[in-house]
Amino acid sequence: MIIKDCRFLISAVSSSQYPEGQLPEIAFAGRSNVGKSSLINSLLNRKKLVKVSSNPGKTRTINFFMINEELIFVDLPGYGYAAVSNAEKLKWGTMIEEYLAKRYNLKSVVLLVDIRHKPTADDKMMYDFIKHYMEKVIIVATKRDKISNNVLGKNLRTIKETLGTDEKDILISYSSENHNGREELWEEIMRSF
Ligand code: GDP
Repeated sequence: MIIKDCRFLISAVSSSQYPEGQLPEIAFAGRSNVGKSSLINSLLNRKKLVKVSSNPGKTRTINFFMINEELIFVDLPGYGYAAVSNAEKLKWGTMIEEYLAKRYNLKSVVLLVDIRHKPTADDKMMYDFIKHYMEKVIIVATKRDKISNNVLGKNLRTIKETLGTDEKDILISYSSENHNGREELWEEIMRSF
């Protein structure tokens, strides 16, 4: 995918603010600090279109980005940040559910998990949440450069088992440091249109 142009469109908290139109949309979900901003920047070959967080968990909006005037990337608010009130968690859940349920042009959701760790209960909840609306989930195991080759297979197995994935789901390991996995993820994204 050659990125000719990408730009921020809007931050939304409810469906009335989502951009209109029929362009295919790909959403990205994951725990705060999992590497979501870095992954989106890596996919788009941009250094800082999406701000890499210094304060994890502060994004509380759904952020839309226009890519090449042909598809839309959506950065869903991160979860699993401890210092968040129950009221905020509820608001987060409502916002995500509204997005997944109503977004008619949503083609795929990319769920990010950290390749180093067993997915958390929050990750499993998010996986189930997405799976309720989508047939297939694209799971990206981030920070591939932080583990050695000899634990790769074991860690990927743990991710599959803990999330309870099925044969329709895709699992790709990725490094935003050296862009390992970028071609594979782009192929998967384009395949979902
Ligand atoms: P977000 O909160 O999910 O958007 O996560 P960020 O993209 O802000 O990344 C959180 C931290 O992990 C930052 O310090 C990033 O530099 C680091 N990080 C993200 N992706 C990678 C990766 O693939 N490799 C390495 N080594 N660090 C990463």
